[in-house]
Order: sequence, then structure tokens, then C-alpha cells
Amino acid sequence: SVMPEMIVIPDDYEAIPVSLLSIPTRYQGDVDSCLIPFGLITDRVQKLAEMVYEQYKGKELHMLCLLKGAYRFFSDLLKEISALSAAADAPDVVKLSLHFVRVKSYHNTESTGDVKISGIDLDDLAGKNVLIVEDIIDTGTTMVAFTAELQKVTPASVEVISLLVKRTPRSNGFLPHYAGFSIPDKFLVGYALDLNEVFRDLNHICIISEAGIEKYRE
Ligand code: 5GP
Repeated sequence: SVMPEMIVIPDDYEAIPVSLLSIPTRYQGDVDSCLIPFGLITDRVQKLAEMVYEQYKGKELHMLCLLKGAYRFFSDLLKEISALSAAADAPDVVKLSLHFVRVKSYHNTESTGDVKISGIDLDDLAGKNVLIVEDIIDTGTTMVAFTAELQKVTPASVEVISLLVKRTPRSNGFLPHYAGFSIPDKFLVGYALDLNEVFRDLNHICIISEAGIEKYRE
């Protein structure tokens, strides 16, 4: 696979102190700094939507949201693709269908890369153009396992779009077709990315603090 074009956030990037942005009171102290402000996410999602629209205009497209982490990216991306499609002449409309799936990977059995898939009948995607919408690719385990399962029902095409791609030595080399940002090897929260179900409602993508990790550890 080919490295997609991304906005690269370098390892030595000095993330924005949260005191300079508006964040919910209840998260003050739980995050150190903001790596990607919501405004920049919005701008990048708009461009990604244009790229997806160009690829699928005039076609049927089945967008597949990987719950829960990708829900905000999915929602914002969909809104932009729909707007482009709505403004287009009839032949250039994207005929959208939406699907939602829960995928859980098991990191305690690292070598197998097993994933548990629920909430969808993958057979519905046989012969369809499928765009998998993911929040973040870390080791790539989830995507390799999930795309292998999906290929079994022989979709017409499968592409992956991920908002974030982590630069990590633990990567298995999996790369998405479209991606928003290449990011340092840090644990991020916000914009639907969680730590034990907390922080999904934070708009910015932030770096969690030691205090935050301690507070929400289970
Ligand atoms: P992978 O299978 O590529 O190692 O991991 C993918 C999944 O791990 C993502 O869908 C996400 O749920 C979770 N993940 C990986 N890195 C992060 C991170 O920095 N923050 C959060 N909140 N989740 C992550």
C-alpha cells in the first residue's frame, strides 16, 4: 500500500496548552495539551470529504462506521460528503448507505490479531463499494483483521479512511487509503476518542495528563 497524503504533526511539535483553548471544566487538569484543535479537524475533514466525493461521485457508496471511536469523524465526514452530493448534478450524486459496526480487538492475544465483530451482517456488503471509517490506526491489528473478515463476503471494493495514523514501531505496516493526520506515538483523547468511556465529548484531540490517566484508570 501507498502512504496517503496527511498533515504531519512532528514528534517535537509543541502542543497547545489547554489554558489557551476552551475545554469543559470537568476536564481541566485531565489533559496536558491539545494536539489537534477542533477547528483544524473540521478543515481537514472538509478536504477528506472532497477526496472521497471525487472517488465515489455517480456511484453507490456504503460508509461503515467503526463504533464507538469513529462516530464523530463519521458524522462530520458524512455531512460534508452529503453537502457536496446535494449540490451536484444528478449523474454526480453519491448514493449513500450507512452502516455501523462494533469492533473490539484483543491485544492480550497479540499474535493472532483476533477481532470481535458485532452489530452488523457483513453479507449485506457483498458486491458493494465499502468505505471503512476509522478514528485511529495504531498497530494496524484491528484493520488487518477486520478487512480480512470483510473480504470474505467479496465486496466490489474496500477502502479505509482514518482520521489519525500513529507513527509507532508497533505498526504492522497497514496504511489507509485516506488519512487526516500523521501523529506522534502518544495516547490521545477527544473527538470521540476515549479513555474508559471518558473524554468522547471533548471537541479537541488532546494529550491526556498523568493525573487524567490516574483518575480514569479502571
Ligand atoms: P490498532 O488495532 O490499530 O492497534 O488500534 C486501533 C484501535 O485502538 C482504535 O480504533 C482505538 O479504539 C484504539 N486506540 C489506538 N490508539 C489510541 C489512542 O491514542 N487513543 C484512544 N483513545 N484509542 C486508541
